[in-house]
Amino acid sequence: MRRGFIGGNWKMNKLLKEAKETVENLNKSLTLSRGIDIVIFPPYTLLYFLKDLIVLPNIYLGAQNMHWEENGAYTGEISPLMLKDLEVEYVIIGHSERRNLFNETDEIINKKLISALKHGLKPILCLGESIEERKKGIEKDVIEKQFKHDLKRVPINFLENIIIAYEPVWAIGTGLNATPNEAEEMHKFIRDLIEKYANNNIVENIRIIYGGSVRVENVEELSSKDDIDGFLVGGASLRSDSFSKIIEIFNEVKGF
Ligand code: PEP
Repeated sequence: MRRGFIGGNWKMNKLLKEAKETVENLNKSLTLSRGIDIVIFPPYTLLYFLKDLIVLPNIYLGAQNMHWEENGAYTGEISPLMLKDLEVEYVIIGHSERRNLFNETDEIINKKLISALKHGLKPILCLGESIEERKKGIEKDVIEKQFKHDLKRVPINFLENIIIAYEPVWAIGTGLNATPNEAEEMHKFIRDLIEKYANNNIVENIRIIYGGSVRVENVEELSSKDDIDGFLVGGASLRSDSFSKIIEIFNEVKGF
């Protein structure tokens, strides 16, 4: 059985005082299970302060992005070595907000993915189609193209350290989630892609999570699908009560 994974992507939200309160509340409210990894992805400015506040086992810190180089003249960027220096373990790569608002191409995402793996960070690779692409019925072509380009030249022995997040762009921050069947179908398709391109028996070990308007109200149904190994949660991760509840429901349904 694959371990569960729930990430809270805080995006560009929270100042120090509020962030500390949120983590302290999570420390109190979370009932943890050994079978789930929980990762908080705060803005870079909070990583240093939060690392010592996270006291529960199975809760880790992640970054929302990184540059692929170790150092150099890249004003405004953060390197993998800087993340490792702060004991960060996970990093989101290729979030659709990075792709769409900051023009990150598959080539850039591929460089970041390889660099993260090389430095021992565990990447959450986000893949997802737009609403126009889904309406045209080409969502699987889009996911396959992203998958092929983003994972180019990634050594097979690194694959198990990657978590793939299926995040349809039309579901992010919109309140419209993919139905459990839509998500399950795409997760199965992604697992088939891993098998097709990696042609290796590790395929069953790779975690594929769903992201896009996951909330307390829809998490039970989504969790009931075998191929959904967890969630990347944006808006609902900002409050410790809703984030804890999502984790609790996921844990109950999966029986970790
Ligand atoms: C996200 O940013 O990855 C996300 C899934 O956001 P939300 O849950 O707010 O749709």
